[in-house]
Amino acid sequence: MGVIRQRRVRCGEEAALTRTSELAPENLGPTVTVGEILVEIMATSVGAGFLAPQPLVGPFPSGAPAIFTDQVARFGGAAGIVAAVGEDDFGVLNVARLRADGVDVSAISIVPGKPTGSAFVRYRPDGARDFVFNITHSAAGEARMTAAARALVAKAGHVHVMGSAFAIPGIAAALIEAVATVKARGGSVSFDPNIRKELARAGEGRKLVDNMLAVTDLLLPSGDELLVAADEATEGAAVERLLGLGIGEIVLKRGSAGSSHFSRQFGRVDCPAFAVEEIDPTGAGDCFGAAYLTARRAGLPPARALLYANAAGARTVTRQGPMEGVSSRRELDAFIAAAGREGGE
Ligand code: ATP
Ligand code: MG
Repeated sequence: MGVIRQRRVRCGEEAALTRTSELAPENLGPTVTVGEILVEIMATSVGAGFLAPQPLVGPFPSGAPAIFTDQVARFGGAAGIVAAVGEDDFGVLNVARLRADGVDVSAISIVPGKPTGSAFVRYRPDGARDFVFNITHSAAGEARMTAAARALVAKAGHVHVMGSAFAIPGIAAALIEAVATVKARGGSVSFDPNIRKELARAGEGRKLVDNMLAVTDLLLPSGDELLVAADEATEGAAVERLLGLGIGEIVLKRGSAGSSHFSRQFGRVDCPAFAVEEIDPTGAGDCFGAAYLTARRAGLPPARALLYANAAGARTVTRQGPMEGVSSRRELDAFIAAAGREGGE
């Protein structure tokens, strides 16, 4: 617990701290993700699942790794993704969006004969979500280490791993290769263990998480994922155990309650959420993580990176569609300033 008592600051009241992050600086090369590109189609009414006909809206570009990489690029970082889409409108829609936002799409395969992946989502009254996924047997399930993917990874400075990507059969080998390649050239790794209940596979999940934790420099859990990842009962014990494993930074996402950073170097840094009206929470965690990581790779200290991340998460939830609320750094600066929270540089 020593690290947590060390010092405690709030975002916006940054001390003159020099950056000695474990995270590779942006000039080492792009941030690369590996995983699913999907369209999302959502119910327009609140209720349980899809057991009756109902109005839907979409398709929206989606897939946690795709949202993440889009937010990295929009924030101003170099970004690329290893993924696969079908030869159909859903694939075209996704690739066009990523390309327009500045993502390197050279390692996105177009798979003939399989449809682009999809996710149908409906919100329950308590805010929980039910999903119907088409990932494993879609083009998204064909994401592999192709020659184009190897070329992208060979110049990458950082790999971001999304737990959701483990739904793709055989993806673990691609992720391990990407992590090993990037680490060998002095790069770093972040991990968001967002394994949905619909995607968790009994038994295998724990081993995958442990293998990932062993190579993670920045861990981005939300809510109880912190306790599950550490296999501990309290937040303090979980943080201690994970920092003890050699994880440089943990950033805990707390939804509308904001977020906290924990590290040996900076101690604990808390950042309250911005007050916004939540329209659609999907994508908040992905945009949050991307803004945080990209700000840190750009050399900003944790408190500043957290402020950007909270702003990115907050802006995302005000828009319907997981990738519709992705923000540029300039938009985040304006949002932070409008909220009266110290922003920018
Ligand atoms: P996802 O649904 O993408 O998996 P997550 O569970 O990983 O999300 P959350 O904690 O829900 O992550 O959201 C990430 C961050 O976005 C929060 O820490 C907070 O800064 C911001 N955020 C999320 N929801 C809200 C909200 N209702 N109001 C303000 N900010 C929010
Ligand atoms: Mg999450």
